[in-house]
Amino acid sequence: MIAEIICVGTELLMGQIVNTNAQFMAEKLAPLGVDLYRQQVVGDNPQRLTEAVLTALSRSDVVLFSGGLGPTEDDLTKETVAAAMGLDLVLYPEEWDRIVERFKGFGRKPTPNNKKQAMFPSKNCTILPNPRGTAPGCLMEKDGKAAILMPGPPRELRPMFTDYVMPYLEKRSGHRLYTHMLRIFGKGESDVEYELKDLIDSQTNPTLATYCETGEVKLRITAQARDDAEGEALLSPVVDEVERRFGDVVYSENDEELSAVCHRLLLEQGATLSCAESCTGGLLSSAFVDMGGSSAYFVEGDVTYANEAKMGSLGVKAETLERFTAVSEECAREMAVGMRNKARTDYALATTGYAGPDGEQVGLVYVSLAAPDGVQVKELHLTGDRNRIRRLAVLHALDLLRRELSLK
Ligand code: ATP
Repeated sequence: MIAEIICVGTELLMGQIVNTNAQFMAEKLAPLGVDLYRQQVVGDNPQRLTEAVLTALSRSDVVLFSGGLGPTEDDLTKETVAAAMGLDLVLYPEEWDRIVERFKGFGRKPTPNNKKQAMFPSKNCTILPNPRGTAPGCLMEKDGKAAILMPGPPRELRPMFTDYVMPYLEKRSGHRLYTHMLRIFGKGESDVEYELKDLIDSQTNPTLATYCETGEVKLRITAQARDDAEGEALLSPVVDEVERRFGDVVYSENDEELSAVCHRLLLEQGATLSCAESCTGGLLSSAFVDMGGSSAYFVEGDVTYANEAKMGSLGVKAETLERFTAVSEECAREMAVGMRNKARTDYALATTGYAGPDGEQVGLVYVSLAAPDGVQVKELHLTGDRNRIRRLAVLHALDLLRRELSLK
């Protein structure tokens, strides 16, 4: 099966925006058994777009379009592709109702030109839902050729491509993809890549790819296989090998977040938790409370920002604060122990640090865990702006708990 990508937009053509949609789609095609021979970028010009569409349809089985599905005059991808395929557009009342509802949600009414976004070919057309925007995508088929139209904004195109287009391509090409998304905390992306270079370079099925997130690395391992059993048989030796090399910095094989792993382990073990926070100001407690069902273990979260609060609420000693300051191993230890005693929980986490932007020791943070068998404190030297430092502090605190619970 041969595919071609056409990205539409004058901004794109003139280099005002980078064509990340093409990259996002292109790298996913080979593992789906789809050959990509060409990409085109066309401005918002009906004549040149028509030429591009006709040429692409003459030499490819599937043409993937990005952009030009908006309500304005210069958004003309759908009209142009339908005309080139000899398909007439008609109004789909249920799609129009959906657009009206969406606008209602924002307290607005659609303008008449939004009707364009509810017009699709009367036959040979499948609509692709777009929960993140007003313009649905669509799949038009004729004479064995398919044109797949997706909106330009990446946050709309990406889920549409993953949720609807990839399954369609998989089905058409007869290939199926199986994936494990490993999550790694405690190793940078370049270290992960370096230590797996032999596997990344030599493996074609499965393939390995790394993605960087705040403080963490995701490693996607993807195999092409005929069925679940073959997929798992191809994936599991590589997953095992990565875990053998990296040990317990790999905290999930299935794209679970750190907070979700802690949540699951606390529920499984029937243990309770409380949090005493200074520099994270409630973010750590929120990481748990964000998840439904956390009331089964989450007892209390205190934001003790001032020294008086640390003393009054948690029993941190005045002499500890005087001698070592509030950002110290000793203070973090007393915060966690004080919290655990006060809330009578099995575990208590504490954070204290300098999130900046002012001060000399910005990034110095202590996270602490009081557990039934003792207290641990970790000193961190974090970098980045205030928000990043606070988010990293939360991840380190979660990781401390995750490691402790994993030992049980
Ligand atoms: P809208 O309804 O938002 O107008 P659209 O489908 O008409 O969506 P465009 O108007 O072509 O899409 O693009 C909207 C925005 O999406 C662009 O301003 C740009 O920020 C982003 N975008 C469009 N095409 C791409 C691309 N190929 N790669 C990355 N971003 C893109």
